Amino acid sequence: MQPFQYIRPASLAEMVMAEREARSRDAAARTAYIAGGTTLVDLMKLNVEQPDRVVDLNAIAPAFSAITLDGSTLRLGAFAKMAAVADHPAVIGGFPVIAESLSLAASAQLRNMASLGGNVLQRTRCAYYGDPAWTACNKRAPGSGCAARDGVNRQHAVLGVSDHCIASYPGDFAQALMALDATVILVGAEGTRSVPFASLHREPGDTPDAETTLRPGEVITEFVVDGGPWARRSRYLKIRDRQSYEFAVASVAVALDLVGDTVRDVRIALGGVATVPWRAYDAETMLRGRSLDEAAAADAAELAFASAVSHTHNAFKIPLGRSAIVRALLETAAMEVRRD
Ligand SMILES: Cc1cc2nc3c(=O)[nH]c(=O)nc-3n(C[C@H](O)[C@H](O)[C@H](O)COP(=O)(O)OP(=O)(O)OC[C@H]3O[C@@H](n4cnc5c(N)ncnc54)[C@H](O)[C@@H]3O)c2cc1C
Ligand code: SF4
Repeated sequence: MQPFQYIRPASLAEMVMAEREARSRDAAARTAYIAGGTTLVDLMKLNVEQPDRVVDLNAIAPAFSAITLDGSTLRLGAFAKMAAVADHPAVIGGFPVIAESLSLAASAQLRNMASLGGNVLQRTRCAYYGDPAWTACNKRAPGSGCAARDGVNRQHAVLGVSDHCIASYPGDFAQALMALDATVILVGAEGTRSVPFASLHREPGDTPDAETTLRPGEVITEFVVDGGPWARRSRYLKIRDRQSYEFAVASVAVALDLVGDTVRDVRIALGGVATVPWRAYDAETMLRGRSLDEAAAADAAELAFASAVSHTHNAFKIPLGRSAIVRALLETAAMEVRRD
């Protein structure tokens, strides 16, 4: 681990000011924020992340850790712990896909430590990215190549890939936010802004090192999720190599509004198979207004993977992902939910 400056601002205003001053002194210096530290510290020990400054957000965290239901709108502080959100009755009752995505993520110890903001910004688990002994990794060292394309790529993505990077996005909670059309609140030197969560992550293209649309120095303070019938009828299906704890090989978040067995609205988000939290928009459009039976679900699954590109070891993710979509749609349709 290389030496770094450690800062622990007492307030958001102090953090923004310190960051502005630091940037005016040295615009190229790298800042890393630390919340639970469960991703960042590992990557620093591996010399994958080498920040010049580590800004500890934990003095600010209590002000942005609340879980509140404002009418039918759920507001989740970005520093709320994964476990606290997964276990919250308002989340379990009104937004089950969020509770399930969090309770199926990582281990109990990690969920007690890790924050929502850190969770959505966790880095890929591509083994070549996490091991600097491999020199070819465009995400870690832009322009160096991609060891995974001709290497071991069983865990890698089939959707949203580019010639420059095929790393899969590893998190679970992000798929629930995608399926519920969540909004994310960001604070930085230019003030506060609110953006659709779906626009937070960037597909790799030819700059896989640029993973998000965050502006320099911006922090996530809150996630905002509107409730409704689709949120109550929602679920998260996670397929993984072992049940105790493991990242998704394929996962599906579904939010569904049914009238009888006809689809009034549906949102489908995919994890484990794509470079970013992924929405299957074409599949959703095809399903709206249709009766939801196995044939319709299979048609949706086919469409969802129409643009998939596989490599040596990960072609199995395409049929697996399709089956997961069919199962998730039919199980979500069969859920007992109250309508009000
Ligand atoms: C063994 C293991 C298994 C795991 N399994 C899963 C799994 O199955 N599913 C899953 O989803 N995750 C899994 N994880 C990942 C885990 O959930 C994340 O490490 C955790 O959620 C990160 O949260 P944190 O608060 O510790 O983030 P940190 O490590 O503190 O930060 C992570 C990143 O986010 C940035 N950051 C943090 N908070 C903010 C903020 N508010 N604004 C801006 N930037 C911020 C940091 O700068 C850093 O780049 C696993 C991790 C481990 C170690
Ligand atoms: S898939 Fe992406 S993260 Fe993995 S080696 Fe290739 S460029 Fe690096």
